[in-house]
Amino acid sequence: MTRVWLLDLDNTLHDAMRVVFPRINRAMTEYLARELELEHEAANALRMQYWRRYGATLLGMIRHHGTDPHHFLRETHPFPDLREIVRRDMRLVHALRRLPGRRIVVTNAPLHYASEVVRALGIRAQIESIVSIESMSFAGRLQPKPSRPMLRRLVASLRVPASRCVLVEDSVANLAGARHVGLRTVLVTGISHRSHHPSRRARAGRSRRIDVQVQSVAHLPRKALRSAR
Ligand SMILES: [Mg+2]
Repeated sequence: MTRVWLLDLDNTLHDAMRVVFPRINRAMTEYLARELELEHEAANALRMQYWRRYGATLLGMIRHHGTDPHHFLRETHPFPDLREIVRRDMRLVHALRRLPGRRIVVTNAPLHYASEVVRALGIRAQIESIVSIESMSFAGRLQPKPSRPMLRRLVASLRVPASRCVLVEDSVANLAGARHVGLRTVLVTGISHRSHHPSRRARAGRSRRIDVQVQSVAHLPRKALRSAR
């Protein structure tokens, strides 16, 4: 039966650490300062507080200030020059081509940004669809990764058993959510875990939630084909 690869975008398929995340963080701080009439320092602190508490600044903004998510997402992802930041990645193109099964990008980022990144990377033809944060809203609430109800709904919509789906991610928290729902899990360490040496305890906790660990998605086909045998 077909395997379904659910691929995270930022820091999984491309490096968002260098330019993308710093710019999003800056834009979010400016947004909070503007909309909530805060000084820069206070806005920055509140942004981080919401991010720590809810896993996303947007969730805090919706809950406490009734922010319109579409307005927030549009204003905080300013990338008219995305093609200069994210380059075509032929290793990634080849890797995805060799990855047997369906390939779907699942990201907590907005669709306009995710589509642009996918196009800039040159992988549009390798991707069946993009599941962005806009489609993670139900029961009147935005429920991005690692929401278990959202992951269950996503798997149901794909019409395959959860055990045939693999979440490929740099976020251990998101993989833990996926694991609870019965998905298989791949941790990609090469970008966001570059200078990160986890403790033995963290490693042990991790290993319970992670089936496969790779440095880069480019290494995934080899591992996937081996484990499928
Ligand atoms: Mg990520």
